[in-house]
Amino acid sequence: MDLLQGKTALVTGGSRGIGKAIALAFAGVGANVAFSDLAYDDAARELEKELNGMGVKAKAYASDASNFMESENLVNEVVAEFGSIDILVNNAGITRDTLMMRMSEEMWDDVIRINLKSAFNLTKAAQKFMLKQRHGSIINMSSIVGLAGNAGQANYAASKAGMIAFTKSVAQEIGARNIRVNAIAPGFIETEMTAKLPEDVKKEWAEKIPLKKGGQPEDVANLAIFLASDMASYITGQVISVCGGMNR
Ligand code: NAD
Repeated sequence: MDLLQGKTALVTGGSRGIGKAIALAFAGVGANVAFSDLAYDDAARELEKELNGMGVKAKAYASDASNFMESENLVNEVVAEFGSIDILVNNAGITRDTLMMRMSEEMWDDVIRINLKSAFNLTKAAQKFMLKQRHGSIINMSSIVGLAGNAGQANYAASKAGMIAFTKSVAQEIGARNIRVNAIAPGFIETEMTAKLPEDVKKEWAEKIPLKKGGQPEDVANLAIFLASDMASYITGQVISVCGGMNR
């Protein structure tokens, strides 16, 4: 099934984890894939090579998604190189977890800037082209903690809740131009981001999950394929959880 044949996707934070799984999944169903990350390092080079080996056009970019000008330049470069931008996945994100009483101003600012402002930066740059071509699918990587909150993640949860409100607002603004905007709310997905959590925290999470295990990046990527594709052509402004039943 070549669900995304001929479409161009840009995935931010694409060198590892969920972003990487999405880049590979998109290429697997025919999309040309541009992905960005903070550095053009070995991980980026290897993924770029792997994607090109899948018979699609692929290119890695070093670009800080939290920087407005860099994001605008990135989107312009992708359109110049690939000819269009049909799918944008705002995936780049970080955690700086601690309880409020210990959270510094810097921890708050970094998370809001990198997780939330990045979505504004890339969406603003990409929508200019999507509005002209009169189609597009934007996918914002939120989190179930953006729906439910989580002790020790006030900054992160606020950034992810912000992405949900951002998703719903922009969906209302640009739906008339056939541009869909949706959010994915992953639960506990096994990536480098969650690997650094203490073992007891991981065990506690797993016990809370009805499916009794963490999710894989591919579980999120499968939903991203669907939302990016024409199979989701009447779906916009929605938040869909990929969480093994945690969000209920
Ligand atoms: P990860 O840490 O494995 O990968 C994140 C990638 O984003 C890294 O390659 C990193 O270099 C990149 N990145 C960070 N800051 C960036 C910036 N300013 N510009 C460009 N790239 C940047 O994390 P992951 O688990 O794959 O998470 C991906 C997304 O999914 C994040 O937004 C995260 O908040 C969200 N999420 C993850 C989980 C989970 O359980 N892993 C759950 C819910 C939501």
